[in-house]
Amino acid sequence: MTGRTTGPLGDVPADEMRAHLHRMADWVADYRDTIEDRAIAPRVRPGDVTARLAAGMPASGEPLERILHDLDAVVMPGIVHWGHPAFLGYFGSTSNGPALLGEIAAAALNVSAMTWKTSPAATELETVVLSWVREMVGIPSSFMGIVYDTASVATLHALAAAREVSGSSVRGRGIAGRADLPVLRVYASDQAHSSVEKAMVVLGLGEENVVRIPTDDAFRMDVGALRDAINDDVRRGTRPMAVVATVGTTSTASVDPVGEIAAVARAHDAWLHVDAAYGGAVAVLPESRSAMAGAELADSIVVNPHKWLFVPLDFSALFTRRPDVLRAVFALTPEYLRGDASGARDTSGGADAIDYMDYGIQLGRRFRALKAWMAFRAFGRDGIESRIREHCRLAALLAAWVESTPPFRLAAPQSMGIVCFRAAPPSMEPEECDALNEAVVDDVNATGAAYLTHTRLRDRTCIRVGIGNVLTTESHVATAWTRVQAAERQLRGAR
Ligand code: PLP
Repeated sequence: MTGRTTGPLGDVPADEMRAHLHRMADWVADYRDTIEDRAIAPRVRPGDVTARLAAGMPASGEPLERILHDLDAVVMPGIVHWGHPAFLGYFGSTSNGPALLGEIAAAALNVSAMTWKTSPAATELETVVLSWVREMVGIPSSFMGIVYDTASVATLHALAAAREVSGSSVRGRGIAGRADLPVLRVYASDQAHSSVEKAMVVLGLGEENVVRIPTDDAFRMDVGALRDAINDDVRRGTRPMAVVATVGTTSTASVDPVGEIAAVARAHDAWLHVDAAYGGAVAVLPESRSAMAGAELADSIVVNPHKWLFVPLDFSALFTRRPDVLRAVFALTPEYLRGDASGARDTSGGADAIDYMDYGIQLGRRFRALKAWMAFRAFGRDGIESRIREHCRLAALLAAWVESTPPFRLAAPQSMGIVCFRAAPPSMEPEECDALNEAVVDDVNATGAAYLTHTRLRDRTCIRVGIGNVLTTESHVATAWTRVQAAERQLRGAR
């Protein structure tokens, strides 16, 4: 013991902390071990958790024993167990043991990777881990990466860079009160993620200036329609600022023809951003490398290891071949940071020292690279490949079950770990089928044995399954499928 505070000031006494850490280690291990025994979704209503909490903050400190007791008694009953292997909502859960160890260590260190000097190891690990992601998914080494929390934020940064190169000097002069600015437009498919609109809201360019381009039968952007939309806009005097192509759309994991889209974007001098937040991961598989074909022509690409590369929330990687633009938009070193900034003076880090704060809006930055580094090393490239391949196999298997089981049918071609399907009994009107499918999802989720979501495709309600958890096996998918069929039979009978 070296002079740690044990009085009323300072941290909790070291011995007590150690004992609780051991207890917490067991808590975490037990949680992962027994997660399958839990009902996935809790039976709680809004306000139930709050009602079990004390109304006010305690005036004096409470014993950790009591707080940890309430973790089980108050918090856990309100948790949706995303890590449960039969949680098949969204893209599945990327939780895993090695990454968990990284999270624990990162919390203990609590460093801020804002400049190289404030966190040499966090900065350099970030660079290394990003190069691994880049290589895994086949992005050229000329692209520089940076880690943000989410793909929404990555896309916001990409479009901020696009706005700057459109010649509008917004960084310096802003947009308010300027008569010299044209309307700046962004094009994305009708399946692209809503983060594109959110970015345009934040950038002050307007949600209405996102032009949604129709998709083909497989939910891929119609490039002819993109060309027409841009030409119409140019004739009207608006400026095409950026095109967003998606590799792995949110609903169906469809893949836009990125190479063809790149040619259109280039012809109009528009920034090309590729949203490979989900689908980039599939390019880890040699047999699926083509999913990222054309992405090398992009100005920026987002890949979310927290969606399918086994890095738990949050971890989103933006790659750009124009980091100078990103830096031109975001680098700003106030005096109080000058001593720690590499750009401002010669540091022992030398010319290669990166200050990631210069490439984004955030100053304080968590040590996110640690959990990624631990997961990537523990699984290895082979391990990541085989897990992703297995998820694709399970999705294809479910799709085959659906196709051979009327009144179910696929609502979109199965792609990556995603299967969208719909019960469509011939005796029912489409609107009745919508209600039936929604009710099936609710019914299955109420069992606690599986968890699904729904989506709308071509204005019809569909059931959506996403497979991406390292714990998910064929038996979990089979359980979910059995539950879906049982719910559909029972609900149809009741109608
Ligand atoms: N892009 C795609 C294709 C997505 O599916 C999603 C979320 O599901 C996002 C972006 C936004 O991701 P995030 O939650 O990391 O902001």
